[in-house]
Amino acid sequence: MRAADLLPAGATRRRCLALGLGAAAAILPAASRAAPRRYALEPVPVAEGAWTIYGAAEPITAQNGGAIANVSILDTREGAVLIDAGPSHRYGEALEALARSLTGKPVARVFLTHLHADHSLGASAFAPETVWAGAWLQSDLKRFGNDLASGMYRVAGDWMRGTGVPAPAREAREGVEEVGERRFRLLRLAGHTAEDLCLFEERSGLLFAGDLVFLDRAPTTPDADLPRWRAALDTLAGVGHGRLVPGHGPTEAGRRGIDQTLAWLDMIDGRIASGFERGLDVTETMALPLPGWTEGVAVARYEYARSVMHLLPRIEGARLPLLDA
Ligand SMILES: [Zn+2]
Repeated sequence: MRAADLLPAGATRRRCLALGLGAAAAILPAASRAAPRRYALEPVPVAEGAWTIYGAAEPITAQNGGAIANVSILDTREGAVLIDAGPSHRYGEALEALARSLTGKPVARVFLTHLHADHSLGASAFAPETVWAGAWLQSDLKRFGNDLASGMYRVAGDWMRGTGVPAPAREAREGVEEVGERRFRLLRLAGHTAEDLCLFEERSGLLFAGDLVFLDRAPTTPDADLPRWRAALDTLAGVGHGRLVPGHGPTEAGRRGIDQTLAWLDMIDGRIASGFERGLDVTETMALPLPGWTEGVAVARYEYARSVMHLLPRIEGARLPLLDA
């Protein structure tokens, strides 16, 4: 049986890859009935009145319920502001309760950074008029949201119960959004996906980079456009942030996350292109050794293998002459 046979009806392989689910994840058995079904959200302070809940440095599994991405909470006079909402309705509910207990206020806004399920589907627990997303993301959720959700049900099973498709009613535009005493500078970038929203909060100096930056956890590439991704990282490097909160991995001052993500993109690009030029097939390209520095990067081998599946066909399509040309 091919992996595609196990995908939800109506889900294309490409859309399942876009969920952040590789073929390997797509053929995992349905969620274990013994898995716990309660997300233990542990907020870590990243600035005054700001916390990040760090995702597990793992693939999405039935054990972690998809809680692999970073989600942040900021206190403001007008209420709590969330950056991303986690993978499921249940996660969104736990996040809402946590934000209320940390800030003493309800959630005023949820900003979604991008389409991937581990960041976006928890927004189904919030009223649409509370949820902000860029115009591309608003329309991509309408087009692909059902595939996203059904793919996640397949992998994370019961964790997903009650999860629908978020419908952000508010459009996040480039520019400054003031919420209470905080000023968020919104940057609509792209490269990890068709639209990646980054937010720089001026008061705290925090830069929320979404999945344009991964640190000590290998980047995912199902929807990547590498030249646009590199250009976006260049833009982020010029923001002048204090600390950077990546989509996955620890918060740090400086630009280690930006540099490591650039180095990763160059590394996979170079290896996959050289595999193609040497006439290697997918399996042989996947088996190429990775540089020593990637030993400190979680799920490096797993994500490299997925990237070969995503990117090698594109290189072949671009470079092989058409037979009827
Ligand atoms: Zn992502």
